[in-house]
Amino acid sequence: MSKTPQAIRGTQDIFGAEAEAFAHVVETFERVRRLYRFRRVEMPVFERTEVFARSLGETTDVVSKEMYSFEDRGGESLTLRPEFTAGIARAYLTDGWRQYAPLKLATDGPIFRYERPQKGRYRQFHQIDAEVIGAAEPQADVELLAMADQLLKELGIADGVTLQLNTLGDGDSREAWRAALVDYFAAHRAELSEDSQDRLERNPLRILDSKDPRDRAFVADAPKIDDYLSGEAQNFFGAVTAGLDAAGVAWTREPSLVRGLDYYRHTAFEFVTDRLGAQGTVIGGGRYDGLMESLGGPATPAVGWAAGIERLAMLVGHGRKDRTDFVLIPIGAEAEAYCSGLIAILRRKGLFCDMAFRGNAKKRLQKADAAGAKAVLIVGEDELRSGKIAVKHLQSGDQALRDRLQIENPNHGAAYTEACLLHGLGGIKYSQGGEDFQAE
Ligand code: ATP
Ligand code: MG
Repeated sequence: MSKTPQAIRGTQDIFGAEAEAFAHVVETFERVRRLYRFRRVEMPVFERTEVFARSLGETTDVVSKEMYSFEDRGGESLTLRPEFTAGIARAYLTDGWRQYAPLKLATDGPIFRYERPQKGRYRQFHQIDAEVIGAAEPQADVELLAMADQLLKELGIADGVTLQLNTLGDGDSREAWRAALVDYFAAHRAELSEDSQDRLERNPLRILDSKDPRDRAFVADAPKIDDYLSGEAQNFFGAVTAGLDAAGVAWTREPSLVRGLDYYRHTAFEFVTDRLGAQGTVIGGGRYDGLMESLGGPATPAVGWAAGIERLAMLVGHGRKDRTDFVLIPIGAEAEAYCSGLIAILRRKGLFCDMAFRGNAKKRLQKADAAGAKAVLIVGEDELRSGKIAVKHLQSGDQALRDRLQIENPNHGAAYTEACLLHGLGGIKYSQGGEDFQAE
């Protein structure tokens, strides 16, 4: 027999509890982005290579080492997206989205980077992403950060995740700081890592981002942006921090925080945790006022963030179980046909149901138990004949016969039907349409 091909290194087949946690992150993000009135976009997975090369800058790690680029059959150089922002910026310019500015957008999906795979670091991973385009106001930064903060809170993982905040200043502040960093690091050139010696010429800010201990030794005493900030840049940062304080978003100042990409100005931030080992950054972002110009567009202020869904899902943990209300257990061919109809009715009413049709009764009850169902609905020959359904509440073990007709009444909604079935079983209380169902 021929050998089965293996999955590609750095990709994942996400299943089971991990998949539940993953879906929970995406669903929570979807709800929060609606609360904040961000509009949903769906973006292409690939773009012309120059979209990323020009936006991110040729000297960045992502462009120089991590992109999945290939020539298509027409000889064009294309790249699987290594981030969302550049493609969204391209669309903003090519699709006339300027008319909607300030435009709040959100999306999620797969991202591709050729990295060394390890826990929390993959070659295909997934991000959720939020951007505010065409807004120079610090309120946009505040809103985005408050949204990220609320997402973490609603996921129940805000404790142990810290918002680290910095400003890179405006263009002039950043240039002055950059010059000071070059002077400082040049004096220690020989002691820096090879990568950072290279960065010294090409992008000295990125030395501050280095994880190499040889570089870390010098980062603490490196020149600080605060000494180079213009009055305007100081005011901007002050407005952002005041807004965060007003919104009750906790933050800490991290003066050596820079982001890996060229296009950042003013606000730069990361949400970090020590609960994920070396891969501790869960959300990263900032203001990218220079990006649109590098794509040939007009100066367009914008700010955004992206979060790794896998890292958020790891923090959420694997304790989540999807909701199951009822598991149907038909005994015999006639009951199976009946239950196919009944389960369709229950699902149309909005109840979360499954059917256990294989194995002996004990096996099927175990399946219902493992799914965390509230109750099983058992239909055998006796029940079919008498027009009843046997309802067994799994927690209390209580059992009762219920009227089929009542359950199937199309005028009754999910809560009413559920109450009909569970009335008197297992301490569940319902109120629907003015009627109370109080279990004893
Ligand atoms: P890191 O410092 O971990 O490499 P980054 O600065 O490259 O992160 P960003 O480009 O800001 O990351 O991407 C935003 C988020 O996407 C990160 O905070 C992280 O949660 C996630 N992420 C980035 N790269 C990977 C990867 N290879 N695998 C899984 N998640 C990733
Ligand atoms: Mg990276």
